[in-house]
Amino acid sequence: INPKPSYRRILLKLSGEALMGEEGFGIDPKILDRMAQEIKELIEMGIQVGLVIGGGNLFRGKGLADAGMNRVVGDQMGMLATVMNGLAMRDALHRAFVNTRLMSAIDLAGVCDTYNWASAISLLKSGRVVIFSAGTGNPFFTTDSAACLRGIEIEADAVLKATKVDGIYSDDPMKNPDAELYNHLTYQEVLEKELQVMDLAAFTLARDHNMPIRVFNMNKPGALKAVIMGNDEGTTIDH
Ligand code: UDP
Repeated sequence: INPKPSYRRILLKLSGEALMGEEGFGIDPKILDRMAQEIKELIEMGIQVGLVIGGGNLFRGKGLADAGMNRVVGDQMGMLATVMNGLAMRDALHRAFVNTRLMSAIDLAGVCDTYNWASAISLLKSGRVVIFSAGTGNPFFTTDSAACLRGIEIEADAVLKATKVDGIYSDDPMKNPDAELYNHLTYQEVLEKELQVMDLAAFTLARDHNMPIRVFNMNKPGALKAVIMGNDEGTTIDH
């Protein structure tokens, strides 16, 4: 008999960059398919999965604004980029025979559903993956904020932030070989040590609502499942 998973409902945050693989831009279908398989395993275990996808592989509002574009317009492009990633992820999940619904915080009739809290909850309960795209629907926010917001709304047990590194380190592990990987941190410790977990708006939202954050390496095969099974994987941040 398998040990019981430590989470019942999760909010998984995938950055746009996680989808682009080696390419440096756009979407790598191989990566998408691998992630779809890993998510499928969770669904088969009875875990309810909400997904927030970033858009940084396509557009970032701030980058466009730094180059002279109006920030609000740039952020709207960024939010639409997250919808494109969401469409690609929904397609990958459907091809893996995983029932999935794509919602957008911005109305896009004919393309996907508009975000609706009550529908999202009932879809999650019936075993559908729900992808929350277009971030919060507002400029000047990030998809990390969207992940914490949706995570709190759907009463997820944790926000799982997929990254390219194993978790939160005391220093940049690429530059400092002595950098230490933390297994557990409190919200307070993250703020005191000024550790980079996510932007402050997202982080304080999670803290104020006691939403645990778990940072782990999505490039490491099996890491997502290890996190779910309560193994010593990644860094957990809570109170
Ligand atoms: N964005 C936004 N509001 C939100 C979420 C995202 O305006 O609530 C825009 C913003 O321009 C951002 C872009 O969408 O740069 C892509 O999101 P993000 O940078 O968070 O993606 P990630 O870094 O996770 O790939």
